[in-house]
Amino acid sequence: MRKALAGAAAALTACAVITTPTPTQAATLTTAGTGWKIATRLGVTSISPSRTYLITFATETLRKRYTPLLAPAVPQINAAGVHLKIGGVETVNPAKCGPAYHVQIIELYRPMGRAGFSQAMPCPNPARGVGTGGIVAYDSEYWTGYPIEPYKLRNTLVHEPLHALGLDHPNRLDAAGKEYPYACVATSYGNTPLMCSPNGGYKTATAMGHLTGYDTNGLKALLANAKAQGIK
Ligand SMILES: [Zn+2]
Repeated sequence: MRKALAGAAAALTACAVITTPTPTQAATLTTAGTGWKIATRLGVTSISPSRTYLITFATETLRKRYTPLLAPAVPQINAAGVHLKIGGVETVNPAKCGPAYHVQIIELYRPMGRAGFSQAMPCPNPARGVGTGGIVAYDSEYWTGYPIEPYKLRNTLVHEPLHALGLDHPNRLDAAGKEYPYACVATSYGNTPLMCSPNGGYKTATAMGHLTGYDTNGLKALLANAKAQGIK
């Protein structure tokens, strides 16, 4: 799974991925580009161009809470070519992947063991590297007074399901392969990818919670890899 992190002073959200390196890519696959990176360390290299990925929630309370907060990103994800819909409620076992092509959402108290961090991961090592959805555990303390700026919260809420779809952090890495926090490419306006760790994305009230062009390029790359493999 991945983690999200926070600064000492305040807040949040980052994610780091758990490792299960199982490279599955062929020579024709592209797994990283400017401002985006694919979760190859979890064995994901592509996304299905034809299947519909369904976001589901562990409870009705969560469905009502998160549906309006995730909704603005859905048309962007669809425009990139990924079939994704927000669905209903189903049983979620955070220790086990659910039905294929479901992105299951639960809340846990500090799922990463750190204040303000959420966690998400794609189901690891799917057949042919085609992502089959995953699990998102949002930190429940966002709703109990944890200090987090609205844009960081909104961006985090969208960041995590994108991990489940197969995107990784595009942060620059040190010699040991560890991510430098916030070390991501930025636009001339200073906007970093939504997938940057521990936080990225737009900061304005109207744009927060939306993917940046870097992130949509990552989704398009996942689809391009499927096509390169002849996956329909
Ligand atoms: Zn993350």
